[in-house]
Amino acid sequence: MCVPGCQEAVRHALSRRGFFQGSLAASFAATAVAPDMAQAAPARRFTSTLDLTHTMSPDFPTFFGVPGIEMDKKFDIKKDGYNLYWWRIIEHAGTHLDAPIHFSEAGATADKIAVEQLVVPLAVVDVAGKAAQNPDYLLTREDLAAWERTHRRLPDNCCVAMHSGWAQHLGNPAKFTGKDAAGTFHFPGVSPEAADWLMKERKVSGLAVDTLSLDHGPSKDFKVHYAWLPSGRWGLENVANLDKAPPSGATLVVGLAKVKDATGGPARLIALV
Ligand SMILES: [Zn+2]
Repeated sequence: MCVPGCQEAVRHALSRRGFFQGSLAASFAATAVAPDMAQAAPARRFTSTLDLTHTMSPDFPTFFGVPGIEMDKKFDIKKDGYNLYWWRIIEHAGTHLDAPIHFSEAGATADKIAVEQLVVPLAVVDVAGKAAQNPDYLLTREDLAAWERTHRRLPDNCCVAMHSGWAQHLGNPAKFTGKDAAGTFHFPGVSPEAADWLMKERKVSGLAVDTLSLDHGPSKDFKVHYAWLPSGRWGLENVANLDKAPPSGATLVVGLAKVKDATGGPARLIALV
């Protein structure tokens, strides 16, 4: 797909490589947007892509403690001439999106989220040092203030992503979920105060975390889910590679499956850097 500013980035990359006079230029010209549209689009350049998605498999730790996906091979190329699985999935497993309907009675379902809300500036707030000291760490209002002191005001319609360093624990489910003897989870999340401030004082489209839930592990009341999602905003959980993403300046593309009435679903997250 081509986001606003994409054609400009392609042109930039091609001319930089000296290919712009060649056949690639011809195919580019054939797909170029109308000049007036190109002028209207904000300039967003990117030179690389970063996958913020974990590979999904039955082994991926889930909130429910059961496999988030079951894959049944219905057709095999040796026997049937082609390969095809039937999947049975939990909507909220692996790298996935929470739609507003997930914690509200009348919020938008996954298929109703407008695409302009799914291609947004990405702001990554690094709390990994603090989370390493406290697995129940809650991203604070002060963490957001510190980000703004360095990178200026959070851009409108952005996704604020908590980088807690938890993605590195994925290979160790006991650490990733932090489940204790009493069955309580221990992993970082966003504080209700920080979420409330983002809703009232900034224009933010989405909240992302590299853990199982927007609310931290021990939460029993899911305050952030109950405040954030009914407001019409979305969430992303189990985000990968935030340690490799720049704190500001990237564009996040949320490739969400468009399933009627879905409360969320697996998403391919791509950062344009
Ligand atoms: Zn979810």
